[in-house]
Amino acid sequence: MSKPDISDLQLQLEQTRELVIALLPEQARRIVEPRFALTIDEVITWHSHTVERVIELAEPKPDFNQQDRAPCPLCRRGPEQGVHDGFTVPEGLRRHLEGSHNFHRCEVMAVAYTLTKNQRRQ
Ligand SMILES: [Zn+2]
Repeated sequence: MSKPDISDLQLQLEQTRELVIALLPEQARRIVEPRFALTIDEVITWHSHTVERVIELAEPKPDFNQQDRAPCPLCRRGPEQGVHDGFTVPEGLRRHLEGSHNFHRCEVMAVAYTLTKNQRRQ
């Protein structure tokens, strides 16, 4: 077998990223669809606005402590540890989407961010 060409792999990776976004339910897809030709400052602003709009998509339900929780609207996951079905809304979900405070970063949000960042204005 010959060695795969790096540019072929890069193209396949890019197509896979686009597929991740294309497979989202429509409402979520519209929010995280990559934007093109933004400046790096606009990419950062886009990211924080997008995180807030994804949080608005969550459908929180109170847990046994009457704390509102919801799975991530993008990847459908909850916290990896503990007995809870979802992240606290809004703060736990925000940390998951941002990958802050040692939360496992949302893979779907990371893909959307990478696509937008890769297409930024140089
Ligand atoms: Zn997620």
